[in-house]
Amino acid sequence: MLSGPSGVGKGTVVAEVRRRHPDVWVSVSVTTRRARPGEVDGVHYHFLTDAEFDRLVAEDGLLEWAEYAGNRYGTPAAPVRERLATGAPALLEIELQGARQVRARDGDAQLVFLAPPSWAELKSRLAGRGSEPPAVQERRLAIAQAELDAAGEFDVVVVNDDVARAADELVSLLAAPSSARTGASE
Ligand code: 5GP
Repeated sequence: MLSGPSGVGKGTVVAEVRRRHPDVWVSVSVTTRRARPGEVDGVHYHFLTDAEFDRLVAEDGLLEWAEYAGNRYGTPAAPVRERLATGAPALLEIELQGARQVRARDGDAQLVFLAPPSWAELKSRLAGRGSEPPAVQERRLAIAQAELDAAGEFDVVVVNDDVARAADELVSLLAAPSSARTGASE
């Protein structure tokens, strides 16, 4: 499972994994957030209403879920279970609260923390995204600071100094025997 602060480039690294390694299976999360320009329903996320998300939670259909910056995000359980049942790894790209839930459920899950090359770099990436109003950016920055402090909870830290290199490192971790049973990823 891949986690790390907002703005560190988890989404970009996972997109690079998909591009360079189409054989790697990546979980598609559900979210109540609105789609950003260019995001495709069913590809980047399954975009749900609050009521639809509530129903999934009530049905115990999510492996984990968390509220993040005013929206909810979760990992549909069935596709991940089906994938792991074949003995192949699954990659989850999730934030910290979700990573902790997965760890609690599955002690074999491998938790990978994607770290920025520096705090200054992370700040400029968060500001540079430009797709959110300043108040939302501030909120994400505060969360990112707390998330950086959690790096020690993870099995491996991958530094996102270069997207292609980080993607390759992530894929090699997925292929490693210790991570073969579960969720390698995001
Ligand atoms: P964004 O809105 O930028 O796409 O995602 C916000 C945060 O939610 C990111 O840190 C992303 O990794 C996280 N996220 C995406 N999908 C999931 C999920 O299924 N579960 C959890 N817990 N976090 C997720």
